[in-house]
Amino acid sequence: MTTRTYLGIPRDEIPWKPNIDEEKCIGCGQCLEVCPNGVYEMDEAAGKMKIVQPMNCVVLCDKCMVFCDQHAITFPDKEATKRLIAEKLRARAQQPKTNDGQG
Ligand code: SF4
Ligand code: SF4
Repeated sequence: MTTRTYLGIPRDEIPWKPNIDEEKCIGCGQCLEVCPNGVYEMDEAAGKMKIVQPMNCVVLCDKCMVFCDQHAITFPDKEATKRLIAEKLRARAQQPKTNDGQG
């Protein structure tokens, strides 16, 4: 198994994933219909949608949120997530390739 990455950053270091408000979710299945990535699975017993593979969510995608008429789906702040990604990319760019040469 290879580690999944986004722009070279391990995917699990980027906290971008949907969150479902169970109180609001009516189990209509719209989010499952629009997402091709296996993020969601219907909990038939509860009549609610659940998130089973959060890291399958495409970083900065929020398509399913638009399709939820109940406004049950939320995401982290997009601009804050972009800043976090930029910081991680800068940190990676500044990492020395070897431990010699300086000083
Ligand atoms: S679209 Fe919204 S209300 Fe419908 S199952 Fe998904 S989260 Fe629940
Ligand atoms: S944001 Fe996009 S990739 Fe993520 S769960 Fe929704 S539709 Fe799927």
